[in-house]
Amino acid sequence: MSTTETPSGIYRYKAGDVVVTAVWDGFNPLALKDGFVRNATLPEIQDTLASQFLPRETLNITFTPLALQHGGKTVLIDTGFGKAGPGTAGRFLANLEAAGIAADTVTDIVFSHFHGDHVNGLRNAEGGLTFANAKLHAPRPEWDFWMDDARMEQATEAQRKPFEMLRRIFGGVQDQVNLFVWDDEVVPGVTALDAKGHTPGHTAFMIGSGVDRLLMISDVTNHPALFFTNPDWAASFDMDAHDARKTRHRVLDLAASERLRIAGYHLPFPATGYVERQGTGFRFAPAQWLYGA
Ligand SMILES: [Zn+2]
Repeated sequence: MSTTETPSGIYRYKAGDVVVTAVWDGFNPLALKDGFVRNATLPEIQDTLASQFLPRETLNITFTPLALQHGGKTVLIDTGFGKAGPGTAGRFLANLEAAGIAADTVTDIVFSHFHGDHVNGLRNAEGGLTFANAKLHAPRPEWDFWMDDARMEQATEAQRKPFEMLRRIFGGVQDQVNLFVWDDEVVPGVTALDAKGHTPGHTAFMIGSGVDRLLMISDVTNHPALFFTNPDWAASFDMDAHDARKTRHRVLDLAASERLRIAGYHLPFPATGYVERQGTGFRFAPAQWLYGA
């Protein structure tokens, strides 16, 4: 971020006793092409966007990690793109600090999965650890998939890139990563939920307790303008389209049935709201932005 630019993209709310800060990392203006959704044509995608007053040619995909403060801990859910993404991303650290959370006070980092927009922020531009005092937590099935050297050796040149990226990111700290499984309470107040499909170990999180719980859906859907209305559409980012579709229905059904507040990594900022069933799909009702509530 340039020094003349004002930090922006912070939104604070509560889930029970947990203070949640949604922290914007930025966005990627993705040029839409055939194949972005495996089972919808480009005109179908464009018409769906246009019907919601969104651009036809570009899908602005936003990135919003969470910082959770509870019981003396400061926990991040994912870390943004760091310096590895497009120039329109990489604002997470500046915005986190603008929210009054210094990098060295972060006690824990919980990863939802290992795509680059979620993990690269662990390292700074020099390759050092951005959050020097944080304990790292990752889903065991995600780790087992990507850190399997035999699988990397079998991959094509293009497929190798994410494997190599993850070895750069976790190099030197791999022995310090706590590997959790679904249904574990990873840190107090944060329980991991099976959300496989987007990646083999993709994880959602139930945060807080009682009626004020927050369901962090991570990448169960990408942009709600496309995938709430059409939960069966398979984005090219979903590694296993079948599992991702089943997960999308299950997680959004849970949110709708229990009237749970949700957060989502790729929901438009402040990346939180509610879900209801509508027709054969769902409707996302974004939270109202309030300051000082
Ligand atoms: Zn993502």
